[in-house]
Amino acid sequence: MSDYDYDLFVIGAGSGGVRASRIAASHGARVAVAEEHRVGGTCVIRGCVPKKLLVYGSHFAEDLADAQRFGWNTQGATFDWNVLRDNVAAEVNRLEGLYGQTLGNNHVEIFRERAIVNGPNTVQLVSGREITAAHILIATGAWPSVPDIPGAGHGITSNEVFSLPELPRRAVIAGGGYIANEFAGIFNELGVDVSLVTHGDRILRSYDDEIVDRLVDISRHKGIDIRFNYRFDSITKQDDGSLLIKSENGEDIETDLLLWAIGRTPHSKALGLEDVGVELAKDGSVKVGDDNRTNIPSIYAVGDVTNRVQLTPVAIREGHAFADTVFGNNPRTVNYDCIPTAVFSNPPIASVGMTEAEARAKHSDVKVYKSDFRAMKNVLADRNERAIYKMVVAGADEKVIGLHMIGPDSGEILQAAAIAVKAGLTKQAFDDTVALHPSMAEELVLLK
Ligand code: FAD
Repeated sequence: MSDYDYDLFVIGAGSGGVRASRIAASHGARVAVAEEHRVGGTCVIRGCVPKKLLVYGSHFAEDLADAQRFGWNTQGATFDWNVLRDNVAAEVNRLEGLYGQTLGNNHVEIFRERAIVNGPNTVQLVSGREITAAHILIATGAWPSVPDIPGAGHGITSNEVFSLPELPRRAVIAGGGYIANEFAGIFNELGVDVSLVTHGDRILRSYDDEIVDRLVDISRHKGIDIRFNYRFDSITKQDDGSLLIKSENGEDIETDLLLWAIGRTPHSKALGLEDVGVELAKDGSVKVGDDNRTNIPSIYAVGDVTNRVQLTPVAIREGHAFADTVFGNNPRTVNYDCIPTAVFSNPPIASVGMTEAEARAKHSDVKVYKSDFRAMKNVLADRNERAIYKMVVAGADEKVIGLHMIGPDSGEILQAAAIAVKAGLTKQAFDDTVALHPSMAEELVLLK
């Protein structure tokens, strides 16, 4: 038994913090966690989970329209935002309860308040109590960035978007990343007049150009107004409650809702880290080694606050590896190669490995196989939306080093195919696999 109150004190009960707490406790550590908002963190409370439920909810608009081509009479169907919003909120409450229960079952003590670091082995709760721990884990996540321009506060962020009292008639979404594109799709399906404005000349920079170009074309066809090189100047609230967005190049837009989705800053401010001497990077992220340890030997960090890859499964793996290493006598590191990702836009994008451009910059012998097709369902629905599946291979043995997709259910399909890419399989291995017919996924083993 050590002289400290706990073996581990975790700040932040999100994806990384909950996993680290649970696993450390299962290894026999005495663990406490502080959470200033709600147990479950961003993903469960105001990220992946409610977002995906809104994606499902909004897609019914298109499904109901398509259903008529399949013989269904759906006329008279109406949508009620309050019902969707409240049902999503209820599901989030349920999950929050389950996360709390899991921690409780593992004898992790939860302090439902803010905590900061007060020393290499001390944390301070906002209510005043000081607690000591042999190890401290920073798992405080990230926070939506808002630009420093006049009137920026009239906009909202993803923190507020899930509890809108009503759907706006018009919405401007600022940003070109996955969250911006996902909400553009959700709002567009729900009948909101959407503009997606980005300061760059591309959206979704880390994705394959051809796949992104297809999303831009389809989004515009669906009525989303996408504007590149847009420079915000100021935002003012008008007498009727609407917002007037002025841009540097005179492209002013009037809207009812402005959503900032321009990135997420590591949540490391006012945590006491600098006072204790924990090194931060320029972007505010906590600097850690492969073992998730900071320059202060008793302090560790995992998840978005370290700004390695801001995704839930990554935060979870980092938290798990930390707990196994420090408390399970099983030193482990996270392998960041071939992390599959998706954009739940409409239609969705999914990707693993190198894009064609990245592959060509790195290898001299790159080949690309591609299928550009219309899903069977879209043909009967008379929906003129084409999918692309793209396989990037390198070397004489045609090892698959990248897979990129846009089309219905591409996230579901890519998760399975990513196993093959991660395992280093070749194009021949895909060709040797008999097609599952009729499916969209069979295109993967029929690429020419
Ligand atoms: P978080 O889950 O953010 O948890 C940090 C916790 O720390 C929070 O609960 C916070 O309240 C708490 N906290 C902070 N400071 C303190 C303090 N001083 N004291 C006490 N508590 C504190 N990822 C995916 O993989 N797939 C997706 O589809 C996806 N969609 C997303 C959609 C949106 C709209 C957003 C915003 C994010 C999405 N993400 C998605 C990203 C994902 O949510 C994060 O990568 C993940 O939650 C990071 O986990 P974490 O443990 O690092 O931090």
